[in-house]
Amino acid sequence: MLRYVVQTGDPVLRKKCGQVTAFNKELGALLDDMKETVRAENGAGLAAPQIGISKRVVVIDVGEGYFELVNPVIVAVKGEQSGPEGCLSVKGKQGTVVRPYKVKAEYRDRFGKKHKLTAEGFFARAVCHELDHLDGILYTDKAVELYDLPPEE
Ligand code: ZN
Repeated sequence: MLRYVVQTGDPVLRKKCGQVTAFNKELGALLDDMKETVRAENGAGLAAPQIGISKRVVVIDVGEGYFELVNPVIVAVKGEQSGPEGCLSVKGKQGTVVRPYKVKAEYRDRFGKKHKLTAEGFFARAVCHELDHLDGILYTDKAVELYDLPPEE
């Protein structure tokens, strides 16, 4: 089911999300909805608070496979990169954000099984951006430059 993506100004985007403790059908349905929604919106990723759910759940798809991250934690970072970033919850804007070049993260899948991932470049940027959402942080808080995009056709 497609979910409505909340926009900046909605207090749910500023809350620290709670850990997922139940790896059940409800979590699976949430992840399925997030996948459908991020694809419909042509996004690189989506965090649960962006659809109004204050839980530590993220989906990412930047062309390196589709990832579902539950209770993700960044455990190591390396290097630095500066580049453009946008957000489905901050429509019409883009900004330049400095992020680590490489990150290692630990997370659980929808069944509660533990996994690790290593991400570089834009994938690392997406992991940092989406995980920030879980702590109520938007990229606009970190952007060294922020600009308006031309209106959509
Ligand atoms: Zn975002």
